[in-house]
Amino acid sequence: MSATPLVSQVDSVQSELISPLLGASVTELTLWVQQQGQPAYRGKQLHDWIYHHGARSLADVSVFPKQWRAEVAAVPIGRSTIHHRAVAPDGTIKYLLKLSDGQTIETVGIPTDKRLTVCVSTQVGCPMACDFCATGKGGYTRNLQKHEIVDQVLTVQEDFQQRVTHVVFMGMGEPLLNTDNVLASLKCLNQDVGIGQRSLTVSTVGIRDRIRQLAQHHLQITLAVSLHAPNQALREQLIPSARPYPLEDLLNECREYVEITKRRISFEYILLAGCNDLPEHALQLAKCLRGFQSHVNLIPYNPIQEVDYKRPNRDRIQAFLNVLKQQKIAVSVRYSRGLEADAACGQLRATQ
Ligand code: SAH
Repeated sequence: MSATPLVSQVDSVQSELISPLLGASVTELTLWVQQQGQPAYRGKQLHDWIYHHGARSLADVSVFPKQWRAEVAAVPIGRSTIHHRAVAPDGTIKYLLKLSDGQTIETVGIPTDKRLTVCVSTQVGCPMACDFCATGKGGYTRNLQKHEIVDQVLTVQEDFQQRVTHVVFMGMGEPLLNTDNVLASLKCLNQDVGIGQRSLTVSTVGIRDRIRQLAQHHLQITLAVSLHAPNQALREQLIPSARPYPLEDLLNECREYVEITKRRISFEYILLAGCNDLPEHALQLAKCLRGFQSHVNLIPYNPIQEVDYKRPNRDRIQAFLNVLKQQKIAVSVRYSRGLEADAACGQLRATQ
């Protein structure tokens, strides 16, 4: 046996120890248990305990031998703790979760009919600084790791005691600034947690080249693009990143995405009274999306403290909707749930 220097042995043991098990596939977990001198079938057991029995520590896995459990008890599974929980009258629950480094993020569980949707965060804070969004007002701290994204789904599933059917990446952060962890968490949610790809939605404000890169993965997920304005001048006012990455370039990348993946795109459009909700804006929007395989989601603005935008009244929302329908654009209005708990779109921040 060749003599490996002791220091690197210690390093490798330590790095193994600090890497959380959540996010690992059944193959990876099998390899891991075997490295620990355990039989291969314990990998499948561990997978079940992590993804389906809510194990928070290896000490919880009662099917494992007591002595081995004690030996590996320090290996983290990678679960967060619920720091605060706010229930809205419509049943939506907003969670403030505490991560292992003490940072906090928000996650929302949204029950509707037979569905349970989780809105997950992908970053602590957000660097995009969109003018109408509460998350951006608090600045940016760091990307979430894959286990921290998957954990949010398991937490909601366990708290509701109901299977999560849909996941939307529409919480705090810009998913396409954290592509590797987002892709890894999508794979895990699909293969390990068991949620269909078509029930997974990633929402982005648009980062140059990233939509094109995402297309190369040929996923069956839904891509939602936060458009919010039908022309460059207005989009720049609302979304600072639109300056270096103009609307036209964004729409061109979206067209490529549809060609490559054969999936239609959802365009999100916040309605801000007197700002982007005039009939002429609806006409411009229809023009942008002509010949596009798409669906428009109109989101009436949810109020946040820092800015004084207003939500349009129902008549104006209906008028905007009608123009798009006349223009043969597939469109619906999405009233956010959880408004009363500050759990609606754009209202998420890392404090209670
Ligand atoms: N960064 C990603 C995902 C997070 S935001 C993105 O921009 O798409 C999820 C959705 O909520 C986006 O469409 C976002 O623009 C919208 N949103 C942000 N602030 C809002 C507010 N105050 N009212 C309604 N929707 C808002």
